Amino acid sequence: MSESPDSTDMSARGSVGRFAPSPTGPLHFGSLVAAIGSFVHARAKGGAWLVRMEDVDKPREMPGAADGILRTLERFGLEWDGAVMYQSRRTDAYVQALEELCDRGLVYGCACSRKDIAEHAHMGMDGPVYPGTCRGRLGRARATRAWRFVVPEQPVCFTDAILGKHCFDMARDLGDFVVRRADGLFAYQLAVVVDDAGQGVTEVVRGADLLLSTPRQLVLQQALGLPVPEYAHLPLALNEQGEKLSKQTLAPAVAAADVASLWRQVLRFLGQDLPAGLERAPMRELRTWATRNWQPGRVPQHSSRVVVQL
Ligand SMILES: [Zn+2]
Repeated sequence: MSESPDSTDMSARGSVGRFAPSPTGPLHFGSLVAAIGSFVHARAKGGAWLVRMEDVDKPREMPGAADGILRTLERFGLEWDGAVMYQSRRTDAYVQALEELCDRGLVYGCACSRKDIAEHAHMGMDGPVYPGTCRGRLGRARATRAWRFVVPEQPVCFTDAILGKHCFDMARDLGDFVVRRADGLFAYQLAVVVDDAGQGVTEVVRGADLLLSTPRQLVLQQALGLPVPEYAHLPLALNEQGEKLSKQTLAPAVAAADVASLWRQVLRFLGQDLPAGLERAPMRELRTWATRNWQPGRVPQHSSRVVVQL
């Protein structure tokens, strides 16, 4: 873990992966799947692996969670390259990106309340589709609450390394999305593309719940002239009720769990053919095996229920 990296150093290593947790609570099995999956995917190619704290939404942050996550990653042998990036310190970069979008006429101020939108929107793939009410008022509207990005009319397609080819009709199914929220905070979508480019990330490996974010991020990358990373969306770990493991569904923290046992459970969850001989192997041995034998083609395309043994 050297100090003060820059994207030039990282790109010298070829591929650059990352893990980008939100410090809203401790790591659970679901977030560990994303951490180990992205780590192994990057290290298998000899690539760098970075960590970024997605603490752009300060009101949702849990005090101490960011440090707790880093200590947990260390315990699990997930050693990152360079310094951790904190989104809360990146406001200048987001302001600049929003200004660029403004200058290109690709965003507009939206004065609608949640209620206005609910009354006029149809349901899309990811909640109500913004009906474009304020679209005619491109520029800096007076009663602006949020800033929205104008999505293209033509389909947006990409090939996910695990889930294959996906095409989205963004105008119909997702709508003009928020890049700066009514409360002044920058939206996740904008922060992520600015930071992935800023960190020189070449491959984004994350949970399949973010698949619908990918077309939004692709159009933002295109609009800002940023490089497009590869995407690989991992299956989600579900609890017995079929809900995604998360802080909201009270998934237990893994901080104090048996690291070798959890590594084995994550690798099996990701479809890797772990030899029986590694049943009692320590974490470091599992990590070495995983980076030498990683087979992304074996990762299941479907999310599934898991009973996690902590
Ligand atoms: Zn509006």
